Amino acid sequence: MANSIYLDHAATTFVRPEVIDTMHTLMREEYGNASSIHSQGRSARSKVESARKKIAKIINASVGELFFTSTATEANNMIIQRAVIDLGVDLIISSPTEHHCVLYAIARVAKENNVKVVNLKVDQNGDVDPEEIQIIAKANPDKKIMVSLMNGNNELGNMHPVSAISAICKEMDILFHCDAVQAMGKYHIDVQRTYYSFLTASSHKFHGPKGVGFVYINNGNIISPFIVGGAQERNMRAGTENVYGIVGMADALSMMVDERDIIVNHLSEIQSYFESKLLQAIPTCTINAQGAHARMAHITSVSFPPGPKADMLMFNLDINGFCASSGSACSAGIEEDSHVLIAIDHPSDRKTIRFSFSYLTTTSEIDSLIEALGRMI
Ligand code: PLP
Repeated sequence: MANSIYLDHAATTFVRPEVIDTMHTLMREEYGNASSIHSQGRSARSKVESARKKIAKIINASVGELFFTSTATEANNMIIQRAVIDLGVDLIISSPTEHHCVLYAIARVAKENNVKVVNLKVDQNGDVDPEEIQIIAKANPDKKIMVSLMNGNNELGNMHPVSAISAICKEMDILFHCDAVQAMGKYHIDVQRTYYSFLTASSHKFHGPKGVGFVYINNGNIISPFIVGGAQERNMRAGTENVYGIVGMADALSMMVDERDIIVNHLSEIQSYFESKLLQAIPTCTINAQGAHARMAHITSVSFPPGPKADMLMFNLDINGFCASSGSACSAGIEEDSHVLIAIDHPSDRKTIRFSFSYLTTTSEIDSLIEALGRMI
């Protein structure tokens, strides 16, 4: 939308123009079904397979370990459900700050299959202690365990110590499922160097189209499909392939990775600029998860001092053309902190807003935001 300043890139972001052009051409000219055996079908199939190759190369997987899904929500549900049913997982170790699609999938599968769930403790920065995994695993020697922990947190921006978590899982023969949605494209992910059993990602978080994602399933873990009724994705995910989406996703990820250093550098500069200007302008603000083990450069979660002005802040930002995300959800007419803010003991009288940046975010957009926040608070 013209005239608005969009600072909600962690929720979703724009599709790169080059990706739109490629998808547009495919939609107009190559609409074959990738499962059809005629020439149009074979052409669509070859595009899907070269997209698979591109993504596999980026994360250092083999093409046989990559499956396309509709979203990361689907991919996370798939892994959590099938790991329990097909691999006999009966203890899941996770954290209270995971995305709802992970937490709800775990809650459902646990209820239906008598699976024990233990959530790691998180501190006020959203950090977990990987050693707690060892303690829980040692206390449950007869259990088949899966750890389900995200790479970077979508609300706070903190990063879990994935290398340490992965090393413990490998050593203790624990399955490791990692929701890499926010980190994919921006942070280096190599499934050979770091042990992952399953890894999930979503195209619309790295400038690809919405409604397409992928899952890496390490070859050693044979699971059955979550969605049945077709032989697509080598019988692992039924449903006609979203050819334009898959191609667009692979192109978007390739471009992100090619420009990763420049992009992350820019995001870090924007983040530091924003945070220092904000704290100068409104010293009573605090940055959530600022002391975390590591932080992603595209997300800053700000906690505003209590008061009627803070209560109106999301509304005022919106009517003044700023798009950001509230850290609260409305439940039965009462605004409540999100499950993530509750987990880190964020004071409920303070309002949290998440600002998230892209490689096109400018310092002049940040200046406008700071000026507006100064007026509104
Ligand atoms: N996991 C994380 C960390 C996310 O941030 C999101 C989206 O916000 C998802 C999963 C769900 O991804 P999708 O939009 O592809 O369903």
